[in-house]
Amino acid sequence: MKTRTKPLLHVWEWQLEAACRGMDSSVFFPPAGERGRARRRREDEARAVCGSCPVSEPCSRFALTSQQPYGIWGGHTETERRSAVQKMRRE
Ligand code: SF4
Repeated sequence: MKTRTKPLLHVWEWQLEAACRGMDSSVFFPPAGERGRARRRREDEARAVCGSCPVSEPCSRFALTSQQPYGIWGGHTETERRSAVQKMRRE
């Protein structure tokens, strides 16, 4: 029996419009051991990019549904995503 797989392009297509496309990913993902002021500064920088991003909604939805464990996606940190998932489970 032959199985057919659907193209997955639509799953990733939103990334073509991403404001962070081509940027250094270190703005969005923390280096090992990063804390305090350095972390807040990097997260603020990433949020500023996400704030002007035309695909922040699909980005945020993707990160939530795929439970991305690290980084800023759609302007949200991993801690914020974990809190959102826990809140949804309680409701
Ligand atoms: S919302 Fe932020 S992380 Fe997501 S694609 Fe846009 S700029 Fe990149």
